[in-house]
Amino acid sequence: MSVSLVLFTSDLRVHDHPALRAAVSSADEVVPLFIDDDGVREAGFAAPNRLAFLADCLADLDAALRERGGRLVLRRGHAVEEVCRAARESGAREVHMSAGVSGYARRREERLGAALGEAGVALRVHDASVTVVPPGEVTPSGRDHFAVFTPYFRRWAGLTPRDVLGAPRSVRVPSGPRSLALPRRRRVAGVSPGLETGGERAGRARLAAWCRDGIERYADLHDDLAVDGTSRLSPHLHFGTVSAVEVLHRARRREGPGPEAFVRQLAWRDFHHQVLAARPEASHEDYRGHADRWRAGASAREQAEAWRTGTTGFPLVDAAMRQLRHEGWMHNRARLLVASFLTKTLYVDWRVGARHFLDLLVDGDVANNQLNWQWAAGTGTDTRPNRVLNPLTQARRFDPEGRYVHRWVPELRGVRRPAVHQPWRLDERERADLGYPAPVVDLEAGRDRFLRARDN
Ligand code: FAD
Repeated sequence: MSVSLVLFTSDLRVHDHPALRAAVSSADEVVPLFIDDDGVREAGFAAPNRLAFLADCLADLDAALRERGGRLVLRRGHAVEEVCRAARESGAREVHMSAGVSGYARRREERLGAALGEAGVALRVHDASVTVVPPGEVTPSGRDHFAVFTPYFRRWAGLTPRDVLGAPRSVRVPSGPRSLALPRRRRVAGVSPGLETGGERAGRARLAAWCRDGIERYADLHDDLAVDGTSRLSPHLHFGTVSAVEVLHRARRREGPGPEAFVRQLAWRDFHHQVLAARPEASHEDYRGHADRWRAGASAREQAEAWRTGTTGFPLVDAAMRQLRHEGWMHNRARLLVASFLTKTLYVDWRVGARHFLDLLVDGDVANNQLNWQWAAGTGTDTRPNRVLNPLTQARRFDPEGRYVHRWVPELRGVRRPAVHQPWRLDERERADLGYPAPVVDLEAGRDRFLRARDN
């Protein structure tokens, strides 16, 4: 009886899973393995919202495997040691897994390949599982990655993605390998009260509903903060409960500006992944340095704390930061604004903001988070690195009625526009009654400080 092992990482699904399909077709029995990796915890990456979502994903993956006659095997420890142990115990001759992108994932893959090789077990790494286009597949001439999105997108859009693979009908798992009990979402402390349910079933239901009812109006509504006009597929793409390739195929079945704009966002995701794969140090170092001397004294620390707690006195910024805390998710337009506010108006290091996002975001992801932070801070791939977003202009354009602010900042629920976005325009008594803080910075002064400091 031949045995293969499939190692699940950021691909917690049974549909469109090249590694699972290859493992099932190359052996009589398969060990579907997930490692609760000490290395991920030690890297400070195990935030409560993602652990809770992960618990849902593992339970759902186990259920999907059981429907096919199998089950999930969970182990805890150092990934390389645990995979080798599971392969030894089950007599597996091959280990299949999806290719990773971050520096950590790639080092793990290399070590795993070497350790398995010593034991005579082959590691088979499958591309186009996490992204649509594997990092490095398209490059500009003479360079190892694209540093500007538009030319990348032109090449990306011209490629033909692989076909979508069906879920295997049956997965036979050997009786030997023992599994730890799966984690339970309700056992995770410190989870955001509005966190969504994870898992492949939830992801596929969201994708189906999005392609049926949402995608058509995406071009018109994706920047409207008060409307839920985006797919909210990011946590599912992050955990791989839906496959990016399948999302692309489903989106392309529809025509029009909505699906086109949506597909472009999927390309942004691949774009950041190919930058990170080529420059893993961009997770913590400036991609394009400007010799910034970020503010870090007591006043900067106080302002950063006001930013974290949604008490900056700028309603749109505060609404966004409170949404993040409540849901573990934030609208893209709001992410851009709060990142510009922290790094430019307050001139605080992008790493401070990126860390806070990673502590809370359910879709928190090294490629997308760190490189979007760098983009917003002007140290990344933005071709206009010194633009500063103004919360008042953004409010006029993307929350004209103040509905987003009313949802997330209850102190301002009775306040109409324009004061809902500028409560300092109210008289002193009205302001005191609201219990809402005064602005932590003068917008013009903050902007001038940034522009003077940048490149000087
Ligand atoms: P939709 O608008 O429906 O887009 C569909 C998918 O395209 C998303 O699910 C996502 O996978 C991808 N996408 C959309 N916008 C971007 C983008 N700018 N960059 C890369 N991929 C994109 N996204 C994450 O997945 N994880 C993060 O940790 C993350 N951190 C961010 C930090 C900052 C400062 C900023 C400005 C953006 C960040 N984003 C991150 C990108 C983007 O905000 C989210 O992907 C998006 O808001 C998710 O919502 P959605 O699924 O409804 O997106």
